[in-house]
Amino acid sequence: MRDKFVIAIDGPAASGKSTTARVLAKEMQYVYIDTGAMYRACALQALQKNIELKNIDALEQMLRDICIRIEYSPDGNRIYIDGKDVSERIREADITRLASEIAVIEIVRLRMVELQREMGKNGGVIMDGRDIGTVVFPDAEFKFFMIADVKTRAKRRWLEAQAKGEILDLKEVEKELLWRDENDSHRSHSPLKRADDAIDIDTTGLTIEEQTALIRNIIKARYTDV
Ligand code: C5P
Repeated sequence: MRDKFVIAIDGPAASGKSTTARVLAKEMQYVYIDTGAMYRACALQALQKNIELKNIDALEQMLRDICIRIEYSPDGNRIYIDGKDVSERIREADITRLASEIAVIEIVRLRMVELQREMGKNGGVIMDGRDIGTVVFPDAEFKFFMIADVKTRAKRRWLEAQAKGEILDLKEVEKELLWRDENDSHRSHSPLKRADDAIDIDTTGLTIEEQTALIRNIIKARYTDV
């Protein structure tokens, strides 16, 4: 067994994965790896290089060349592509949609999974995404599947945008989330899916403290030294 474990948190967008993962990683002194940011980085790179998603050769070349770096920062990880900080840009709406589109492509997934396995091979990581417990680390010591009803998730995204000074249409946010859920759940390679041995966490109506406590208690119940 690894000295420190791999904790997989999967689930649809805005279900509370990244907030929970960030808090727990800090407490446990684990590394938080936001795998969604990696697909977002691929999407941005393809856009910047004018690569069409059906041009598999060009995508292959891009995946060989791209250097994605995730760096810890107290207020959320920073993401770099080839040394350039793209942390804010990859959260914009066009990249959010393109990330879900590029994540359908098998060669993109193969490369990202390879990088993610390398990052987590010694344990000590909390990784969030869509396929961590099913594909990236099927042997993860802990697997959680987070869900929340779509209205709650839309409201969270809406509030996040508002905090950045952006006023969105709540109905549109909800529509976009439903589109992504559908696209992520029905692709043929590594769809968003609950691992059979994952523990369900429904964060509807829970505060960040409550959802974090649920996971913390499950980990502590199995390993008292955490
Ligand atoms: O988690 P986040 O919303 O940032 O992810 C952006 C997109 O990246 C998702 O909609 C999904 O299509 C893709 N993704 C994925 N597998 C992961 C993480 C994210 O396909 N492990």
